[in-house]
Formats: sequence, structure tokens, C-alpha cells
Amino acid sequence: MIQTRIARRHDWAPGLVTLTLEHPLGEFEPGQWTNVALEVGGERVRRAYSLASPPGAPVELFVSRVAGGRLSPALFDLGVGDPLELDDQPQGFFTLKWLPPAQELWMMATGTGLAPYVSMLRQGDVRSRFERIVVVHGVRHEAELAYRDELRQLGVEHVAAVSRATGRITSLIDRGELDIQPERAHVMLCGNPAMIAEVSALLEARGLTKHRQRKPGHVTVESYWELK
Ligand SMILES: Cc1cc2nc3c(=O)[nH]c(=O)nc-3n(C[C@H](O)[C@H](O)[C@H](O)COP(=O)(O)OP(=O)(O)OC[C@H]3O[C@@H](n4cnc5c(N)ncnc54)[C@H](O)[C@@H]3O)c2cc1C
Repeated sequence: MIQTRIARRHDWAPGLVTLTLEHPLGEFEPGQWTNVALEVGGERVRRAYSLASPPGAPVELFVSRVAGGRLSPALFDLGVGDPLELDDQPQGFFTLKWLPPAQELWMMATGTGLAPYVSMLRQGDVRSRFERIVVVHGVRHEAELAYRDELRQLGVEHVAAVSRATGRITSLIDRGELDIQPERAHVMLCGNPAMIAEVSALLEARGLTKHRQRKPGHVTVESYWELK
């Protein structure tokens, strides 16, 4: 574990913040996550957070405040200069290294599930590997469309799925607004496990199968919590 501090915070919307830390981490692959720990009520609590920063840059965490949660409300309340600990050995397989070749990459996320894609797109390798990259970001309110301007500037297509306006990611797929074809596409899904289950089922009905190392397919997932 390394000790670091909050260098900056950017509040996107109520309950949604990006925390930039004072230190970078060593080697990692964009898409990986690390454990973050804080003392909460006299106990050390740790949870996994994806790295939104690319390797070499000060660590950036994109955090949503989960009402009644143990760590995220305390993390959310941190201000500039406050200390926190993080594991200096990021982990995880939700990375480009494990994806099969494809023409198009669809990066779909709910809420803070966008973080791994921000890291990948900032690092840049992904942009030379795919002819077309589409980020589909599912949020409840327009104000939660974090990083949208930056992603557009990086040259990727950005589709907003605002549940109270345009509808959820599942509605966009149902209405045929996302042209995802198994011959061309690989789809990454990150965030809410209910979205992952529903979108996976819709994609399977269109001929896109779960990607496994032993049996290559079209869909790679990272769930932020367990489906109850
Ligand atoms: C690989 C991985 C990467 C992750 N990356 C991020 C990240 O980049 N940013 C981020 O904000 N979170 C991320 N998470 C979720 C994070 O680890 C915590 O689960 C979350 O912050 C809630 O922790 P808590 O202690 O506040 O809630 P807890 O006390 O652990 O529990 C609250 C309950 O809320 C549910 N829950 C967890 N997360 C959410 C959520 N976002 N919205 C609604 N319900 C939720 C779960 O069912 C959980 O049991 C990631 C999780 C995993 C497994």
C-alpha cells in the first residue's frame, strides 16, 4: 500500500466526483483497478476502484457516493490535502490485452463504469487498434455525463443514454439505435451488474457471445458489484 493525498477534486454532479491524487502508480494496464483504503469509524475499509488515469499520470479515481455505503461516502467527503492509502499493484483483466481483433470497439458503461475507458482512451493504443470506437455512457441525469467533452476531443463517438431523457442503454439497443454487428464489433460492458446482464442478453440475441480466452467471443465485462 502507498500513502498519498488528494491533490484535486472535480465535482461533476451531486454524488459524483473525480479525485486526483498526488502520486502516480507504477506499471499497470489501462482498465485495471486497485484497492483504496481509509479509516472509517476507527476501522480500515478498502474497496476496488478502477484507475481513470493512464499509466505514469497521477492517479485519478472517478467515484460515486453510494448512499449507506461504508467507504464511498467517506471517500466522497475527502478534500484537497486529505490522506488515503492505495494498493500499488493494480489488478484485473478488463484490458485491451485480452480482446480479440475487431473493427469496432463499443465501450459501454453505467455511471463510474466509464473510468477504465477514460484510462484506455487517454493512453491511446486503443485508438490505433480499432477503426471505430463508440463510448455509450448510461446515466440518470445529463449532468452525470462526465468526461464527455474530453472523450469527444480524443476523437471517439460518444452516445449518451440518459435514463430520464433518451432512455437506458437497453432501450437504445432495443430501438435499433446502436448498430452493433457480430462481424465487426467487440463490446465492453462495465458498471452496474443489472445493465451488464440485460445488455449481454440483448447482444446474445443478436449473435454476440461472451468472450473467453478459450472460446473467443464478442462481449467482455467488468461488474462493479454483485447482482442481488
Ligand atoms: C473491479 C471494480 C472496480 C470498481 N471501480 C469503481 C470505480 O471506479 N468507481 C466507483 O465509484 N466504484 C467502483 N467500484 C465499486 C466500489 O468498489 C464500491 O463497491 C462502491 O464504492 C461502494 O462501496 P461502499 O463501501 O460505499 O458500499 P458498501 O458498504 O460496500 O455496500 C453498498 C452496496 O451497494 C451496492 N453498490 C456498490 N457500488 C454501487 C454503485 N456504484 N451504485 C449503486 N450500488 C452500489 C453493492 O450492492 C453493495 O453491496 C468498483 C468495484 C469493482 C469490483
